[in-house]
Amino acid sequence: MPLLADVAVPVPLSQAFTYEVPAALAGEVRPGARVLCEFHRRKLLGVVLAVSERSTAIDPSKIKPLAALVDARPALPAELLSFLQELAAYYFAPIGEVIRLALPALEREQVRALKAQGELDGVLDLGRAKQVGGRKVAFARATDAVEEPGTLRGQAAAVLALLRANGEQPVARLEERFGNARSALKKLAERSLVALDEREPPRDPFFRLAEARDVPPELNAAQAEAAERIDAALAAASAPGAGEHRAGGPHEPRPAAPSAFLLFGVTGSGKTEVYLRAIKSCLERGRGALVMVPEIALTPQLVARFRARFGDALAVLHSGLSDGDRHAMWSSLHGGKVRVAIGARSALFAPVPDLGLILVDEEHDGSFKQEEGVRYHARDMALLRAHRAGAVCVLGSATPSIESVALVRRGKLTELRLPDRAHREASLPEVTLVDLRRFGAGPSGDPLISLPLHRALEKTLAAKEQAILFLNRRGFAPSVVCGSCGTLTTCEACSVALTYHRGRRPGAPAASLAAGAPAAPALGAPAPAGAPAAPAPAAPALAAPPTDERPQGGRLRCHYCDYAGPLPDRCAACGSRTLLLEGLGTERLEATIAASFPEARVARLDRDVAGKDRSQAILARMREGKIDILVGTQMVTKGHDLPNVTLVGVVNADAALGLPDFRAAERGFQLLVQVAGRAGRRDRPGRVLIQTRNPEHPAIAFAAAHNVPGFLDREIRDREEVGYPPATRLALLRVDAVDESVGRGAAAKLAAHARTCPEGLARRVEVLGPSAAPIARLRGRYRFRVLLRARERGPLRGTIAALVGLMRDGLDRNARVIIDVDPVAML
Ligand code: ADP
Ligand code: ZN
Ligand code: ZN
Repeated sequence: MPLLADVAVPVPLSQAFTYEVPAALAGEVRPGARVLCEFHRRKLLGVVLAVSERSTAIDPSKIKPLAALVDARPALPAELLSFLQELAAYYFAPIGEVIRLALPALEREQVRALKAQGELDGVLDLGRAKQVGGRKVAFARATDAVEEPGTLRGQAAAVLALLRANGEQPVARLEERFGNARSALKKLAERSLVALDEREPPRDPFFRLAEARDVPPELNAAQAEAAERIDAALAAASAPGAGEHRAGGPHEPRPAAPSAFLLFGVTGSGKTEVYLRAIKSCLERGRGALVMVPEIALTPQLVARFRARFGDALAVLHSGLSDGDRHAMWSSLHGGKVRVAIGARSALFAPVPDLGLILVDEEHDGSFKQEEGVRYHARDMALLRAHRAGAVCVLGSATPSIESVALVRRGKLTELRLPDRAHREASLPEVTLVDLRRFGAGPSGDPLISLPLHRALEKTLAAKEQAILFLNRRGFAPSVVCGSCGTLTTCEACSVALTYHRGRRPGAPAASLAAGAPAAPALGAPAPAGAPAAPAPAAPALAAPPTDERPQGGRLRCHYCDYAGPLPDRCAACGSRTLLLEGLGTERLEATIAASFPEARVARLDRDVAGKDRSQAILARMREGKIDILVGTQMVTKGHDLPNVTLVGVVNADAALGLPDFRAAERGFQLLVQVAGRAGRRDRPGRVLIQTRNPEHPAIAFAAAHNVPGFLDREIRDREEVGYPPATRLALLRVDAVDESVGRGAAAKLAAHARTCPEGLARRVEVLGPSAAPIARLRGRYRFRVLLRARERGPLRGTIAALVGLMRDGLDRNARVIIDVDPVAML
């Protein structure tokens, strides 16, 4: 019987392909290894899923041999490979594309070797393979040897003390501090007290500065309890025998001890300290750990805390890495040199050796859901990967997602609570609701800066403290409306209003920071047909008074496509020259605040100003007290620890609550609690002002009362009533096409097919639609959708499986269909 390999190739097809393993490679081709193989007369780089000697129904003359083996040691460890296969099955995603998410860039030598073997088409990630290798740098570290007492003096003694305290350091950095560092190191090396090593330096900004080791604080009672529970789970998962089911088939027994936790701790309660203890305990058991955070570019502080505890043996994975650094990080994990990885969503696929722990910080954050390509949810998949690897998983948040709370109630997650802030003096801030229906504009004249907010800002400035103003919309004015006929200026390619941006920054915002939720859709979005019935308030358009002068310069931008163009002279509908800028965006807020408080230093943080380094620089200036008022979007809400911020103003709490999305209330609530959590993190008490026209809205009322459990209870009940997750499971079929009727036709066909498949007929799956998407047109394509809803996962999967065949050959080729399992973005 022939020796056959199942190979995943980077094409959008769900199955693997069969190749013959040539005799010369027998025994060397193993699962997880990359191979070159011919596919429709092109050479592709694939990954071996399985190898076996077996007979096959395929015509032997059709089975091609593998062209070459790329990795002697499999690029993907067994644990990761089987996890990826399960992920692909869960999301009905092509295996080749899923595997691509986890593959490293190729080494330069590999690329050269492959090129030499002939044409190399469609090689995975070839573009990332540039510039691996380069300048080497000397590092020094203290060994375990002990000096004879009294034999070391002066700089040799000082250098050794520093290395022992802070761990390995680049020699150049020591030379900056000690004039005789070279000779001191030579002396220390001769006595085997110090080891010297030459290698490539990490060029990552996260590692630019040395981080002094910290002293772990004593845990408070709640932290200690949480740390002990996690430690016990790690002990159980790592006990002899527990490993037997690791990375096994899908039917391995569940470990007996609880191994997945929800760490529900109020903002500033010291969750990070619990993470640090958990990692320590995991490392002590000889296993590796993975930490996932929403947006790593925004959390240099968090990385600094990890380095302060564990030194530089840390792989920080983020989109700003150079190709060389990314590869270096990957291979240090793969080779087992580094056992802790930290990164955003895509770190889910890091080849952490002997994975023992996965931490998901801010687990409620929307950025864990990938919204293009393979649409996976990194939090859900973290639970899956941990379970399969026999690892412990900890999801942490101050505002847990409804999904995670539901898992706690179903006994799948164990809840650990940190009810108080860690600093004894720090209490939760006092929250005041400002009802915009009662308060008019303050002295600034802008109706969105009420008198109470204005006064609070004055007080904060007088006390030399800092304030954050949060507004959910970037740009200067969210819409441009004709003063005569009321026509809204919309994007030509999308059915959304164009935003007026005054700023002079051309070009698109930095992509590395684009992971957050999109800005609120503008007025142009028609109400969705068959849309979820979220308890949404009628959000009146909060039009700031139109600026009297015609704005100079500036651009109209679409927040959904790349369109940017000049402000038109006249209304496209009626020709009138009066175009009004309506609504308030962060740019205008910044300008208004700067004008009202001329003595204050005002800065803005949103996707328009924030390149990767820029956002860090702005936050650093904030921390150093060089900014008095920081204006910004969601970016200001992410877990920054800014001790001198005593006032947080939420300029328009209603903006997020009116969206046609069943999660609108949940997201609005999370945003409010998180942004409020930025106030008063140390000894000075904090104040939060929330401006709203709907003070009774549950998301606002519960947030104002710091009542997270109360909101969660109510929201879960509401979801149960309207039949949305977690009470049910959803799959969204997203259909789009350039031609409206093609898109509509394909959606109708899918819906009809779903209704008549066995699950549909038995009413185990409810089929909603077809309907136009809330954003009916995007980037020139008309969008439709069919929503599948079921109480159980099985029937839902059955229905999708029944549709896959239709999608492959039964629909108009010009229609594109995307299956979104457990959808998050509903627009
Ligand atoms: P969270 O991640 O829950 O928002 P952090 O871990 O950032 O909270 O903790 C908030 C602050 O409290 C940090 O400055 C941290 O150093 C400090 N902290 C945490 N745990 C303790 C402790 N047990 N004793 C003293 N300070 C602590
Ligand atoms: Zn007009
Ligand atoms: Zn557009």
